[in-house]
Amino acid sequence: MLFSADPPVLTEVSMGRLSRLACDPAKTRGRRFAEPLAPTRNAFQRDRDRIVHSTAFRRLVYKTQVFLNHEGDLFRTRLTHSLEVAQLGRSIARVWGLNEDLVEAIALAHDLGHTPFGHAGQDALNDCMADHGGFEHNLQSLRVVDQLEERYPEFDGLNLSFETREGVLKHCSRANAEHLELTQPGGVGRRFLERTQPSLEAQLCNLADAIAYNAHDIDDGVRSGLITVAQLTEVPLFAHYHQQAMAEHPALADKPRRALYETIRLMLSDQVYDVILTTQDAVKSVGVNSVDEARLAGPLVSFSEDMKARSSALKKFLFDHLYRHPQVMETTGLAQQVVRELFEVYVRQPAEMSADFAAGADLPRSVADYIAGMTDRFALREHERLTGRRLL
Ligand code: MG
Repeated sequence: MLFSADPPVLTEVSMGRLSRLACDPAKTRGRRFAEPLAPTRNAFQRDRDRIVHSTAFRRLVYKTQVFLNHEGDLFRTRLTHSLEVAQLGRSIARVWGLNEDLVEAIALAHDLGHTPFGHAGQDALNDCMADHGGFEHNLQSLRVVDQLEERYPEFDGLNLSFETREGVLKHCSRANAEHLELTQPGGVGRRFLERTQPSLEAQLCNLADAIAYNAHDIDDGVRSGLITVAQLTEVPLFAHYHQQAMAEHPALADKPRRALYETIRLMLSDQVYDVILTTQDAVKSVGVNSVDEARLAGPLVSFSEDMKARSSALKKFLFDHLYRHPQVMETTGLAQQVVRELFEVYVRQPAEMSADFAAGADLPRSVADYIAGMTDRFALREHERLTGRRLL
């Protein structure tokens, strides 16, 4: 199946009809606070709209994906990354007859809990919080939609449907799951204790996330000059499509940027087809017939073994040559220093934070929430204001 040039054969569940494996908004497990139904939108459409209108969503445009926001105007940000995840997820969901609105809601919310400065920021904040329960961006995304957004008169957070919140919490440690289960019995923490799966829409968003960042990090990495196409041709997944692109379009030899786009386009399409076919086969062979059966069946949305191996090799290449590039590491170190020093100052002088956070009952957690909510440039400005030093 790998490297097949042919698009997948669509099965009878596909082409716009809702599969029996799709989450049905009319059968949602509901919201934490009961609300009347909306007259013109179903539960998942309403979730998606609430996410798009949230403050945390607007901040994504100024948050690092790999490159810091101010390093260039064309690099991905958390916002454009989230839009690409939504696009890939919806395309695949449509073929399977899964719920596109739910996929879109999960994709747009999946990175709301990311700190400024990408993974560097999260690691630094997690270190600062080591004695106070730690910091984890998936759990933080859930905190954003459940607690930190302040928009509604009757409740904190966005009061999203169970199915959207379940998709947002894509990973969770056992300790965090136990804590969630204490405060919300039978809630979104339960599946990590029972070791069951989330909806197929949630599983799909998880894979769409990886497909998206592998592809766009190649594009941004080459654009930045930190990695080259010549290096990438040592990665089998990339090399195959690069050869195909050059063979089909010899004129691309003089147009390296278009050649790169064409390579990434071919790579994305084949990964999508691979997921579609592999998952259709898995669903058929396991024989699941309902959303609840699918939750008990083990992970169903996945690449073929071949594609999994090639995708991991690409991921490893990006890790070694881009995420660990000396130039990126230097920025990473400084970004972590910004987060650490902000944390120290706010814990000592809570009044330096905005009033809501300064008044929080659990000070370290309030400081973590405050810092996690910052955009890259706000964090840098705050750091300069509080320390008199400009690090980046
Ligand atoms: Mg992501």
